[in-house]
Amino acid sequence: MLTEKDFEITTLGPCAIDSPLRRLRDVGFIEDSSRVRLQPKIGPQYADGMELSVEEAGPRERIHFEPRWSCGAVVTCGGLSPGLNNVIRSVYSELAYNYEVPRVLGVRNGYMGLNPESGLKLVELTPAYVDHIHDMGGTVLGSSRGPQDPAVIVDALVRESIDMLFCVGGDGTQRGAAKIAAEVQRRGLDKAIVGIPKTIDNDIEFVYTSFGYYTALEKAQEVLRGAHVEARCAPNGIGLVKLMGRDAGFIAAGAALASQDANFVLIPEVPVRLDGEHGFLAALEHRLATREHALVVVAEGACQDLLNRARAAETDASGNILHEDVGLFLRDEIKRYFKAKGIAINLKYLDPSYFIRSVPANSSDRILSDQMARMAVHAGMAGKTGVMIGSIHNELVHVPITTSIAHRKRVDTASDLWTAVMRSTGQPAW
Ligand code: ATP
Ligand code: MG
Repeated sequence: MLTEKDFEITTLGPCAIDSPLRRLRDVGFIEDSSRVRLQPKIGPQYADGMELSVEEAGPRERIHFEPRWSCGAVVTCGGLSPGLNNVIRSVYSELAYNYEVPRVLGVRNGYMGLNPESGLKLVELTPAYVDHIHDMGGTVLGSSRGPQDPAVIVDALVRESIDMLFCVGGDGTQRGAAKIAAEVQRRGLDKAIVGIPKTIDNDIEFVYTSFGYYTALEKAQEVLRGAHVEARCAPNGIGLVKLMGRDAGFIAAGAALASQDANFVLIPEVPVRLDGEHGFLAALEHRLATREHALVVVAEGACQDLLNRARAAETDASGNILHEDVGLFLRDEIKRYFKAKGIAINLKYLDPSYFIRSVPANSSDRILSDQMARMAVHAGMAGKTGVMIGSIHNELVHVPITTSIAHRKRVDTASDLWTAVMRSTGQPAW
């Protein structure tokens, strides 16, 4: 149960300096008292959270750091997502051009780049360095997984005189940012740690849509279109597509809904039964009997309870559980089922995996990454720390990182999104 306290933003101290943005015309300065309601709907079923609100993001008229003597740094961690370079570029341009901060640094290869043992050097960002990066996929700074000691990172912030660290990444990165902010606070240092949420899976709480998500949907749709054509053009054709979504099925659900061609969508949030009269395989058989082709979309984290759990789950460098390949598992199960029934099928399995996340951002993700980056800079300059830029009801807000990472966002099976997926596919509730 969330309370007002969960949305209190920590600030480093007084904001005694006039923002240099005052020289620009048409700047809509935001007061700290401006808030966005968490629950915008009214009605008996919406009583929860009625009173709660979140601080609005945006430029403050008076700021904490003296821009002329400040230094900001940006770090990108975790997996790739379209829009990372746009964030780097916009953090740089807001700091350098608008606040006139003289020194903006890029950290190489994630938090690792702040550990001297890595041997990596910080990059001095310049107009030339960021000039064309927004048209490229990936992150020019590089990224990494794997644990880093917050004390070592804070030592680096002190050594390099970094006042503001902008941490662009997913849940793991934000957990890391919260620990860095806590270490800064423990030492009584004047440094702002600001999170910019990056999650192609769209699974960070208090971020309605994350940058990269819609680009991923567009790429995923191309794959679905191809799989659909393959399925339609062969007798008993089955297109099986595995999409990203380790713990949340937003990409699978969104791409299926956008394409309108999917007949089955399997996501981590909805347990699936394969066998039996009302299971997935019987439904697939019925679909082939009536329509002669089928398109199945599966998120990588779906059906994990059905996979062979004999071996202990492997994890990546950051401790994330590596899921067994549900696509290959389903492919084999479908083949086994129809072979046993003596029904010939034509199954094409497509796994676009990294293809959908390594591309440049589309227009909406470019806009979102630019806005989130600039809001992060405003928050940092105002001395807000341990804070992440969130988005609720189309407004960018300040969310304490610890509150944001307390829960992961999941597809709500009672939501309009999942209801629409069920309607557009016609798939049964298992
Ligand atoms: P993705 O969406 O790709 O999973 P992520 O930010 O969650 O992005 P991770 O590899 O989990 O990616 O984490 C990125 C960085 O954050 C790693 O370098 C790791 O050091 C740090 N990190 C992850 N989890 C924690 C944690 N619990 N505490 C401190 N730091 C963490
Ligand atoms: Mg993660």
